[in-house]
Amino acid sequence: MAKRDYYEVLGVAKGATEDEIKKAYRKLAIKYHPDRNPGDKEAEAKFREATEAYEVLSDDKKRPIYDQYGFAGLDGMDQGGGGAQYSHAFHDFSDLFGSMGGGGFGDIFDNLFGGGGSRSSGRKRSGPAEGASLRYDLNISFKDAVYGTKADIHFRHNETCEECKGSGCAAGASRKTCPTCNGAGQVRRSAGFFAVQQTCPTCNGSGTTIDKPCKACGGRGVQEKSKKMTLTIPCGVDNGKRIAIPRQGDAGENGGPSGDLIVILHVENHPMFERDGQDLYCAVPVTFAQAVLGADITIPSLDGKRIELKIPAGTASGKLLRIRGAGVPFTGSPDRKGDLYVKIIVQIPTKISGKQRDLLQQYLELDGATTSPQLLNISSL
Ligand SMILES: [Zn+2]
Ligand SMILES: [Zn+2]
Repeated sequence: MAKRDYYEVLGVAKGATEDEIKKAYRKLAIKYHPDRNPGDKEAEAKFREATEAYEVLSDDKKRPIYDQYGFAGLDGMDQGGGGAQYSHAFHDFSDLFGSMGGGGFGDIFDNLFGGGGSRSSGRKRSGPAEGASLRYDLNISFKDAVYGTKADIHFRHNETCEECKGSGCAAGASRKTCPTCNGAGQVRRSAGFFAVQQTCPTCNGSGTTIDKPCKACGGRGVQEKSKKMTLTIPCGVDNGKRIAIPRQGDAGENGGPSGDLIVILHVENHPMFERDGQDLYCAVPVTFAQAVLGADITIPSLDGKRIELKIPAGTASGKLLRIRGAGVPFTGSPDRKGDLYVKIIVQIPTKISGKQRDLLQQYLELDGATTSPQLLNISSL
């Protein structure tokens, strides 16, 4: 059988708007739906034809291709709704959705009836369910991350209602099978003559209702509470580190366990120190004379102590000197530490006294500096 033009199938003009195409398809889909025409092969074929036309003409990408190249242009494209996939008998729309999954028909349905399709079905919340894990972002100083600290955290989470012990029922009341859905958690809603599965609005899918809900929690079985805890942050933690506090997330439902509270550490920058894993980096200035002659200096460490540092004679600017064991302690074994690297920056004075100038002039003469130096190998610098 030769294929009819998609616009002809839907009975719309070539320049039809999205809305006109949608309306035309809806009319045909209702008229030819197999539920309404049981055993009518011709109706089924018409339904399939209209659906295929709608699939293409409602698609921003496929419609221009069809307009320009016709059916040939669509060959090989994923046509979701076309052909063989429709060959099974569709008893109702939810069967169709169930077998086709996302994409194809579900989208069409959502477009036509404004969402609430059956894809949210199948979730029945009657058994024990674990509570949600909660995220808590905590800023800590660079120094606290290195040496460890204690931090107070304030958060809100759901706790099992003390009044009803989580049942959601007032004293003497009990859970009953939901009268709207008879415990299924799903109802069939009709849209036109289509029937679709939908989460039961009475019980929100749980399948049960409470005749007298607990006053304290409104029948939810949980209550939001604020909580304060002191968290011990070990030494050696780094940016992005997650600390899980078990069972401090939301309380579970129907006797399920609570989720965890996940604390994510955000380490602030330090103006004087940088960190790479367990190693610390800092920079100190020395004079030209100190760099040439060598010097013993002391520098402040991150924790405020003084560290002695020997600058060897002839130290170039930019040289990294390592102080073993003055770095970041390892989490869990604080006696083991990384190293501290000190970058030596030789500073050139911009103001000097007359005497310094005289001495440097003498030095320059002894130095025998050339005024026509050779170039350095740039890649070795
Ligand atoms: Zn309660
Ligand atoms: Zn219900």
